[in-house]
Amino acid sequence: MDEEAAPKRGKNGPKFHCLPHSTQGSARMGTRKKVHTFVRVKPTDDFAHEMIKYGDDNKSIDIHLKKDTRRGVVNNQQTDWSFKLDGVLHNASQDLVYETVAKDVVAQALDGYNGTIMCYGQTGAGKTYTMTGTTENYKHRGILPRALQQGETNRIIASHTMNKNSSRSHCIFTIYVEAHSRTLSDEKYITSKINLVDLAGSERLGKSGSEGRVLKEATYINKSLSFLEQAIIALGDQKREHIPFRQCKLTHALKDSLGGNCNMVLLTNIYGEAAQLEETLSSLRFASRMKLVTTEPAINEKYDAERMVKNLEKELALLKQELAIHDSLANRTLVNYDPMDEIQIAEINSQVRRYLEGTLDEIDIINLRQIQEVFNQFRVVLSQQEQEVESALRRKYTLIDKNDFAAISAVQKAGLVDVDGHLVGEPDGQGFGLGVTPFSAKPGKKSKSKKTFKEQLSSSARKEGASSPVSGKELDVSTSKTQLTPSSKEGDVKDMTIREQETSSLEPLPSDSPKEELRPPRPSTPPPKPVAFEDFKNERGSEINRIFKENKSILNERRKRASETTQRINAIKREMDVTKEALNFQKSLREKQGEYENKGLMIIDEEEFLLILKLKDLKKQYRTEYQDLRDLRAEIQYCQHLVDQCRHRLLTEFDIWYNESFFIPEDLQVALKPGGSIRPGMVPVSRIMSLGEDAQDKFSQLQQVVLPEGPDSVAFYNAKVKTEQKHNYLKTMMGLQQAHRK
Ligand code: ADP
Ligand code: MG
Repeated sequence: MDEEAAPKRGKNGPKFHCLPHSTQGSARMGTRKKVHTFVRVKPTDDFAHEMIKYGDDNKSIDIHLKKDTRRGVVNNQQTDWSFKLDGVLHNASQDLVYETVAKDVVAQALDGYNGTIMCYGQTGAGKTYTMTGTTENYKHRGILPRALQQGETNRIIASHTMNKNSSRSHCIFTIYVEAHSRTLSDEKYITSKINLVDLAGSERLGKSGSEGRVLKEATYINKSLSFLEQAIIALGDQKREHIPFRQCKLTHALKDSLGGNCNMVLLTNIYGEAAQLEETLSSLRFASRMKLVTTEPAINEKYDAERMVKNLEKELALLKQELAIHDSLANRTLVNYDPMDEIQIAEINSQVRRYLEGTLDEIDIINLRQIQEVFNQFRVVLSQQEQEVESALRRKYTLIDKNDFAAISAVQKAGLVDVDGHLVGEPDGQGFGLGVTPFSAKPGKKSKSKKTFKEQLSSSARKEGASSPVSGKELDVSTSKTQLTPSSKEGDVKDMTIREQETSSLEPLPSDSPKEELRPPRPSTPPPKPVAFEDFKNERGSEINRIFKENKSILNERRKRASETTQRINAIKREMDVTKEALNFQKSLREKQGEYENKGLMIIDEEEFLLILKLKDLKKQYRTEYQDLRDLRAEIQYCQHLVDQCRHRLLTEFDIWYNESFFIPEDLQVALKPGGSIRPGMVPVSRIMSLGEDAQDKFSQLQQVVLPEGPDSVAFYNAKVKTEQKHNYLKTMMGLQQAHRK
């Protein structure tokens, strides 16, 4: 029979034509396609017309099995089947088979899509004939030589020697395609492969009468075919995540050629004879299962790094030339656009430093690269300064414990306070209510020394600007004696704002005493505040001190925990990074070996799966720890606030205690005693405070230097103290006025 002769176009003749693949995509999902299934019937003179019928469109086969009369009258055996396919090839030439089955797959492979064509069927049904063809007859050459020929259109394949493969083994031919553009500038290229699979015979055992070694082989082959089936069933099941590719060599080798991003075609070879009908049925069943599998073809596009670099270099050179032209047109001197070297960077760093110091007025703009480097160096300098400030603060604040009065007295000795215990200078010229002798001050008495409010303000402002609180030595002592209360709505204090040291009459000064000199407020010498503070902590302040200490230890414990949690978080982060890297490595391996994807589900091996699980777990840990840290931080903030509050109370109460204990005159002390003439709280506190001014101020200064742990608390503390002092002062003055009227 000469199948190359014009094929009959009868009812069972091949009258289909091949649609371009792209128009055959599954209607359900835009880019998804079903596996194309074709049936090729081996030509025979004994075609079972009664039992095998083709649909009118040649896209289905109906099988009718005559009832087995030997089995008796009652027989519920199924006798009719109908199989939907993409085409039936009956008496088709090799040419037509190639056109129908393979041509588009190969054409698409040249455009970068992977393709797989499989021949399935029982031994002798024509798989090898279809795939390889006969070597002797050019006309009868199969899909493989034709595919090679299509791929290399300019070259004629003179001969191809094929080892006649056993029908008991699978045979996979793979054609690798790498297509570069003819235009040199195109750095993209595509890679693809075409798998041509000639499977071993699919016939069931028993029928072939295999025995011994042959039987064993057949079992083995059939096993691999059944694994192939399982893989295909899994691929057809949208819900399946795992596809058993690793079960045997065959499925493993076809891992990335079944489904996935391939164009896939199954050609089922069947006999047309009645005697083979059972095997034919089984083959058609396989084909219909295969039809359920969908694939998502995608182009394998790659980039040629070398070409890309070359193209970019060319572009770069061109742009530099362009810049040079622009520069010369703009009358700019030659600008260097190359990356900066270390010396240039160092120069920019020094420019930035000088700019920050104020010794350099501006930094000239040269080009974008230089601007970027300037910003960069700003960051560098900033972070260096931050570190310096921080370490300076640390040096400053960790060396002196707030309760360590040995250290504090050392500071005292260091010059904040002079030997006589006199105030060395007024810290900031704003000591509200700390006027030394407001008690007897007569409003308006010394009009000469009166200053306008504005003058006062500007004078104090100047002082503020000129000196820091701790370097009060530089201040002009005579100006510092003039005190100012800010204009206030709390009462009419305008006339009392200015007081002078020499008007004091509370403590009569020796007549020969120079008026300008600051004098100790008390003739008696009370214990130094640091020492008194220790006593206070053991006496009246013991409870608040205990709470203060307790809060501090809680704060420290929370801080320690936060730092530990931070360390753990960092460790988890590092572990996550390592895992991510390993995962990426696995992924790249997988990509190199060819990826397999089904319905958006990645098929991955165990190692990668474990890494993903690990990463998930680490992320969970990370989140938990991070939440803990956030909670801890909130607690720390709260504890810090409590500690600050306690510290403040401790100091405030100490001040009161100190003044009460050492500065209230004997007669007042008596009056203050239970049953005395003055109720507690009626003592003009400002008097007490004013009497203790020197020591008070010195101690305040010390508190500012030693106490605060952050700049915020200094401001807060100062404000608080000043408000209290002002309040006290106003109260006293009001009391005074009343006394005066009497
Ligand atoms: P299989 O590989 O499926 O076991 P083969 O391809 O080896 O079967 O075919 C068995 C024999 O039948 C071979 O001699 C082959 O040339 C012949 N044959 C198969 N199909 C056809 C066909 N369509 N036209 C002509 N001869 C065929
Ligand atoms: Mg064969």
